[in-house]
Amino acid sequence: MNQGKKMLESAQALIKKTAEKMGLDEEIIKRLITPEYIHEFPLTINLDNEKKKTFFGWRIQHNSALGPYKGGIRFHPETTREEIQALATLMSIKSAVAGLPFGGAKGGIAVDPKKLSKSELEKLSREYVKKVFPFIGENLDIPAPDVNTNPQIITWMVDEYEKIAGYKSPAAFTGKPIEIGGSLGRMEATGKGGLFVLQAVLNKLIKNFSKLTPNTISSQDFPFSPPKKLASESKNKNSDQIQYHQPNNLRIAIQGFGNVGYHFAKLAEDLGFKIVAVSDSKGGVYVKDGLSVETTMKCKKEKGQVAGCYCQGSVCDVRFGKSITNEELLELPVDILVPAALENVISEKNMKKIKAKIILELANGPITKEAFEYLNKKGVLIIPDVLANAGGVIVSYLEWVQGKQGYWWTEKEVNQRLKDIITQATEKIWEKSVKRKISLKEASFEVGIERIVRAMR
Ligand code: NAD
Repeated sequence: MNQGKKMLESAQALIKKTAEKMGLDEEIIKRLITPEYIHEFPLTINLDNEKKKTFFGWRIQHNSALGPYKGGIRFHPETTREEIQALATLMSIKSAVAGLPFGGAKGGIAVDPKKLSKSELEKLSREYVKKVFPFIGENLDIPAPDVNTNPQIITWMVDEYEKIAGYKSPAAFTGKPIEIGGSLGRMEATGKGGLFVLQAVLNKLIKNFSKLTPNTISSQDFPFSPPKKLASESKNKNSDQIQYHQPNNLRIAIQGFGNVGYHFAKLAEDLGFKIVAVSDSKGGVYVKDGLSVETTMKCKKEKGQVAGCYCQGSVCDVRFGKSITNEELLELPVDILVPAALENVISEKNMKKIKAKIILELANGPITKEAFEYLNKKGVLIIPDVLANAGGVIVSYLEWVQGKQGYWWTEKEVNQRLKDIITQATEKIWEKSVKRKISLKEASFEVGIERIVRAMR
C-alpha cells in the first residue's frame, strides 16, 4: 500500500471512530471524511533542454465549515493524491483544534525539486498557480509552504497570482518573505509552537506528578493512556523511568533537520534541553553528550548533509559522536522523540524498538494507526501532530490577518499571540483527555470535530 493511502486510512479511521463515540450520525461522518473538492491536474513545462515535461499536481479542499480553506503545498517525488487528501483532512482538524477561522486544504506536485534547475522550478511553481487560480484567494483558499516549498517558491506563486488577478493580494498566500507581506516569526513558528506545546504538557506533568518521588515521572502514571505495560516488556522496571530534573536532563532526538526540525532544535537547545541526535534524508548524527544545533547546521550547509557533523560548541570532531541511520535515530534511548520529516516513519516495523516515553509529532502523520495503538497502550505519551505542529497554521493565520488589515505586528506581538493560542489549545485538549480518559490524539480529534460540526450547515 502506498504511504499516502496508509496515512489517509489512519486519518479517516480516527475521524470515524471519534465521531461514532460522539454519537454523530452517518451523514455527518460522511461529510467529515469526504473532501469538498479534489482538483487534480497535469502541469506541463518547457525544460532547459527545450523538451516538454508533464508533472501531476493537486489541490484538495477538505472542509470549509469554519472558514476559507487553509493548507500548504508540498513538492515531493512520492506525493500522491491520497497523501494530499490525508494532509488536507488533518488541516481541517488542526485549524479547528487551534480555534482558527479556517477550514482545511492541501496542495502538492509529484516532483523531485532537486532534479530541476531554478528556472524550471520557477516555471513549475507559476504553472501550478495558473491551474489553481480559480479555486484560491484570500477568502477562499489560502496556500502556504510545506515540504520542499520555500519562501522563494511562494514569492513566484504570489507574483503569478497577482499578475493573473490584476491586483495586489497580500492575504492570498502565507509563508511569504517579509519584503512581500510575510509575518515576522513565521519561519520558526512551527518549531516554536511545538516547543510551547511541549512546555505546556511538561508543566501539566509536573503539577500532576508532584506527589511522586521528587524529579521522577513514569509513563505508568500518564492519566490519559492506559497505564498497563505490555506483559512482555514489564520486566525491566528502570526502563520505564524518565529522569525529570531540569529541561537539560531531557534528551531529545529529532528526525528531519529542515525548517521545522531545525528551529525546534535551536529553540529547545536555548531553553536547556539536550539535543542528542538530528538527521536529514541522507542520515543523521548521534552525540551522546548533546550537540550544538547552530554549528551542526553550519556544517550541514558546508557538506550538504548532516551525517558526519559531530559538533559540540563551535567545534565539529569525529570523536564527539557517531553516524546513524534515520531508522536508528527513532530507536535511540531518549526521553523525547521528535519526528519532523515525513509520514509513517513509526510503524509496525519499528514500534517495538521505540524507547522514548514522549513523542512530539512535528511532522504530519509520522505514526501509523497500528503503531499509535501499540505505543499508546504501552503508555508512551504521544503529543499529536494536529496540536504539536499547529504553530505553523497559527502564525499563518496571524500573517493573513495582518495582510487583510494592512497593519503589521512586531515579532514579540506575533510570538505572544502564538503562545496564547497554542497554549490555550493544549489546555483544552489536556482537560478533555483527562476528563474522558482518552489519549491526547483522540481528545484533539474530538475537540476539532465538535467545532467543525457546530459550524456545519
Ligand atoms: P523541509 O523540507 O524544510 O524539511 C524536511 C526535512 O526532512 C529535511 O531535513 C529533509 O532532509 C528531511 N527528510 C526528507 N526525507 C527524509 C527521510 N526519508 N528520512 C528522514 N528525513 C527526511 O520541511 P518542513 O517544512 O520542515 O516539514 C517537515 C514536516 O513538518 C512535514 O511533515 C510537514 O508537513 C510538517 N509541517 C510543516 C510545517 C511548516 O510550517 N513548514 C507546518 C506543519 C507541519
